[in-house]
Amino acid sequence: MATVQVSDLRKSFGALEVVKGVSIDIRDGEFLILVGPSGCGKSTLLRMIAGLEDISAGRIDIGGRVVNTLSPKERNIAMVFQNYALYPQMTVGQNMGFSLEISGMKKAEIDKKVSEASEILGLTPLLQRKPSQLSGGQRQRVAMGRAIVRDPDVFLFDEPLSNLDAKLRVQMRAEIKALHQRLGSTIVYVTHDQVEAMTMADRIVVLRGGCVEQIGTPLELYDHPENMFVAGFLGSPS
Ligand code: ADP
Ligand code: MG
Repeated sequence: MATVQVSDLRKSFGALEVVKGVSIDIRDGEFLILVGPSGCGKSTLLRMIAGLEDISAGRIDIGGRVVNTLSPKERNIAMVFQNYALYPQMTVGQNMGFSLEISGMKKAEIDKKVSEASEILGLTPLLQRKPSQLSGGQRQRVAMGRAIVRDPDVFLFDEPLSNLDAKLRVQMRAEIKALHQRLGSTIVYVTHDQVEAMTMADRIVVLRGGCVEQIGTPLELYDHPENMFVAGFLGSPS
């Protein structure tokens, strides 16, 4: 577990500034959701926290340590994407253990981590299958398993459910919430889905055009939106 502090963070691509001075204090063990319309800078912000994108200005602290110039690996975070490309030729178990294998971990240790993670995710009966033999929800679970085996301090999710059908999405929301409760990890989760934000988050950050409009619990945002944008955005669930 770790706190994540983002201080006056900025990002420009050429002359275009897409993240415009964002500050957020994420608590240890918090489930924080970044929400906002398409193109408002959610993925860019997450990728900067992950270390996959250079920052233009500002500061990121993880667990009280400035990580601005640290590699993704040195940050001890794990990211789960929307397009969770699994290795098609590998089994579920091999997919989950692969990052540990290339980091040089011993086989017995890898097997232990993979079996713990598959137990948590209900993947134990599927360990020998190939990704093509799995449903969408099962594949998404394998993608989460690949993150869990690394014992990250922080999980970053970028619209992990947007490729799933509506029914499965509802089920996976509950599973991710249960996972959070079980692991107690800090989670930063991006979605453009208002319902997802309202039902899953400890706190929600509403972004618009690269700026924070409001930060608060779902109830605070619902009962006391600071402006029309927040009211409109969260008040009309899709
Ligand atoms: P969101 O995830 O909220 O939909 P993004 O963070 O992906 O938004 O993108 C924010 C803005 O930055 C968009 O206008 C997008 O076109 C732009 N952008 C993102 N990545 C790049 C890039 N590598 N080069 C140029 N522009 C980019
Ligand atoms: Mg995005």
